[in-house]
Amino acid sequence: MKLHTLALISVLQLSLIAAEKINPRHLHAKRQLPSNSVASSPPPTPAPPPPATSSSAAPPPPPGTPAPPPAATTTSPAAVPPSPSSVVSVDPSPGVTTPLNTVPPLATFTGVPPLADISLGMATRPVPPVTAVFTPGATPPISGAPVLPTALALGTWPPQDRVPPTDSAEVQRWMKELDGFNVPALSPTINGSCLLDPANAANAASRGWWTCGGYTRDTDITACPDKYTWGVSFDDGPSPYSAWFQYVIDYLAEKDLSATFFVVGSRVIERPNLLIEEYMAGHEISVHTWSHSPLTSLTTEQIVAELGWTRKAIKTVLGVTPTTMRPPYGDIDDRVRAISLAMGMVPIMWTNSPSGGKFDTNDWRVAGGLVNGTDSFNTFQSILGNATLLDTGFIVLQHDLFEISVDLAVGYTLNAALNHQPKFTLKAIGECQKFPAGNLYLETNKNETFPFRNSTSGGVDVSGDGTIDTKSGDGGSTTASAGFINSIPFLTSVTAIALAAMGISL
Ligand SMILES: [Zn+2]
Repeated sequence: MKLHTLALISVLQLSLIAAEKINPRHLHAKRQLPSNSVASSPPPTPAPPPPATSSSAAPPPPPGTPAPPPAATTTSPAAVPPSPSSVVSVDPSPGVTTPLNTVPPLATFTGVPPLADISLGMATRPVPPVTAVFTPGATPPISGAPVLPTALALGTWPPQDRVPPTDSAEVQRWMKELDGFNVPALSPTINGSCLLDPANAANAASRGWWTCGGYTRDTDITACPDKYTWGVSFDDGPSPYSAWFQYVIDYLAEKDLSATFFVVGSRVIERPNLLIEEYMAGHEISVHTWSHSPLTSLTTEQIVAELGWTRKAIKTVLGVTPTTMRPPYGDIDDRVRAISLAMGMVPIMWTNSPSGGKFDTNDWRVAGGLVNGTDSFNTFQSILGNATLLDTGFIVLQHDLFEISVDLAVGYTLNAALNHQPKFTLKAIGECQKFPAGNLYLETNKNETFPFRNSTSGGVDVSGDGTIDTKSGDGGSTTASAGFINSIPFLTSVTAIALAAMGISL
């Protein structure tokens, strides 16, 4: 009975997640941090405070809302129908010139279930053993990068999965990075929602609001330049399914591929070892905010806090600072762009086809129980066919937070690309841009024109301690006081909830 109750709650949680794409906040908001948690701040409660800008916009997200308010845990999942604007629109143009693939072969090692069986409620695979652990002080695969910190002093962090407070000394120092840079005086949107905010949606073109019309700017990275090239990315981790359980990392290694991982700061401080494994395996690491909130809905100070704390978390764990970021839900406008660029981070989106179809694997819809793997994959195949119409390559949205989305990735979508005719080449996003790997981190970047530096090009204060962090691989000032943190708490928290949602007990 207890399990059924938990399962029901979890199903509702996952349904909510589906409506807003994969969002770790709702799972983690209900979690109690273990005593050995790396976070020194109090554990989040189920009712996180809404950001100042959305406190008056707390109603449940209506259809068309790509992102909920942070207080969405108070929202009845039943009141959150699938979001039409989030539903991938299959490009209706008749330009698919090659036959769509049938179900591709499975990866050779993973035991991925049949496509039709991938759905909410599916049985899960056995947990494989941990196969890779990197030692503190190890040398990363990027030339000139500092060695891994010899120990982690994780220190104090804002509460996980909430918009960080803006009155901290760190945020106030990071705000100085905007000095002398033109941040447009655009009002925050209401929840990053086109339907909740029709006034701003009507001006989406002028404010460059991606959410309502897919508007981008030249400073956005939206595609790989070479035709038939797929920019591979995984969002919302660090996830055990990528690193701890090795599904994604092993698959990529087997295929000799690299990917870009857009990581959430709240997960980074919780699972530093997983981030290290991704980084040390040669994959690219990028910023995906602290609380996974829709950035256009936040004040400028809140956006700075979201980016700053995530940037600092990655630097603390890896010793390097990403020069790129991806806004959750793709929710970006000219104000968010300006702030990101001023802080030294270039936005990376995912590709829209000329007729508006998004290169979205739909994995978040399967994890939420809205569709099964077959439905999702068929939709994705149709979209993939349209890649042949592009003059460029493309960047695909994909997630690694849940086993379902990882199953789709390593069993189907990536294989579909590798088996496609004409053949696609899969690369990490920086790699497909032909950036030297060092460009992707402040400490190793020798490129004076990337990340499109501006008046803050004299350096940024990643730690927020009042000192400017320089380039040339100085490795920062990570100090030793604590050992590496075991990431096992995941097994007793998110996995338990997810397995319960699937009717499986641990
Ligand atoms: Zn995300």
